[in-house]
Amino acid sequence: MSSVPLERYINVLTEKHIVFTILITSIMLLIFVADLQYTTELYIGVLYLIVVMLSLWLPSTTYTFFFAIFSTAFAAMGYFFSVYNISPLTYMNQPNFINLSMTLAAIWITTIIAIYIKGITIALKKQQIIHSAILDASIDPIVIISKEGIIETASKTIARTFGWESEEICGKKFDSLLTHQYKDKYNSIITQYDDMLGSEVIGKTQEAMCINRMRREFSCEISLNHIEIPELEENFFTAVLRDISIRKSYEQKLGWLSAHDDLTKIYNRRYFNIQIDKEWRRMLRSQQPLALILVDIDHFKSYNDSLGHQIGDQCLIKIAACLEDSSRRAGDTIARYGGEEFVLLLPTTSLDGAKKVAEKIQQSVSRLNIPHPSSETSKKLSVSLGVAAMTPLRGCSYERLIRFADQALYTAKQNGRNKICAYQE
Ligand code: GH3
Ligand code: MG
Ligand code: MG
Repeated sequence: MSSVPLERYINVLTEKHIVFTILITSIMLLIFVADLQYTTELYIGVLYLIVVMLSLWLPSTTYTFFFAIFSTAFAAMGYFFSVYNISPLTYMNQPNFINLSMTLAAIWITTIIAIYIKGITIALKKQQIIHSAILDASIDPIVIISKEGIIETASKTIARTFGWESEEICGKKFDSLLTHQYKDKYNSIITQYDDMLGSEVIGKTQEAMCINRMRREFSCEISLNHIEIPELEENFFTAVLRDISIRKSYEQKLGWLSAHDDLTKIYNRRYFNIQIDKEWRRMLRSQQPLALILVDIDHFKSYNDSLGHQIGDQCLIKIAACLEDSSRRAGDTIARYGGEEFVLLLPTTSLDGAKKVAEKIQQSVSRLNIPHPSSETSKKLSVSLGVAAMTPLRGCSYERLIRFADQALYTAKQNGRNKICAYQE
């Protein structure tokens, strides 16, 4: 939580308002001091105060200062001219030292106050320009939100992300940038702010769905901060809105790539390893059997050698699709285990159940009728399958199940291929 200097709020009164008030007060004072006599000093004083007022529209306080010196000299000249009776201006009144002193006092008090206020406003304007330059320098849009949830200020970059110009979005509700499911959350944090409720979101970066002017929804990271001005008992919020839609789509792509096999589009061995670990522990808790089927294409090397690698690739794609069709139970995992080896992980499945799935696979592959001219086993492409199932025991790893299925596959190969072999302990 940070606080904002009080000067930010002096802006509510412009320097022109303040100086105008001083000007009127000074004129009243002069008239009072001059005792309603229209003296030269009064004319000079009033004239000067108007000039000071006008000089505030000029960019520098130096002008105001010069006007003060000029008017002092003029007032003093007027006084001495009337003392020595040389000026036509002075015929109206007798030299009056008190009037002169009061005029000079009014001139210099007004000058000092005017220069001081002008100084503050120049510093404020500079600060404002720097603040908006900082806001606009940020690639991510930044908005300042009132405690009523209304956007007070927005950086120019909001146009690029949300399609709204910063001037257009000011005055709208902050939740108009959010999709339906996030509106309530941010509304209650902002409008019913309290330290406890806000602590989960304030000062942290959270993902949300935003909506732009064209009603397109996109992922955003919102960093919401609470700003309190104890002197004014005021608080408001800043929000940095980062469009993360590109990152999200890359993350999705990366997530898919890390879990899938590029050729067959089914899960890869990496994903299978994560799943078997998870399912093993789940079956350990529920004491249900976990089954595994290893599928290996027979004589695939010679298939590749005789028909070419590309035809071999097409064949792997067909087998993968066939395996996916053979097992449709939610929770089953079908993955490419190696080159021409596939694996099926079947939770809550007994050895008998797994054998039935293996038979289905064998028949489905046979129905594909993929010619394999160089096979010593059959004229069409066939697979060997190793099946194993076990109910996990404490202190025993899933490696054991994989080893059993591997041994069963080895036996199927030894028994002449195109066979299903189940591991018996
Ligand atoms: P077996 O009947 O004993 O299983 O013999 P096999 O030839 O099928 O097994 P082996 O391990 O000797 O050869 C596997 C072959 O699988 C080697 C390689 O040419 C082929 N292979 C592995 N990955 C790919 C791939 O991504 N695409 C293609 N086209 N072939 C692959
Ligand atoms: Mg193999
Ligand atoms: Mg093989």
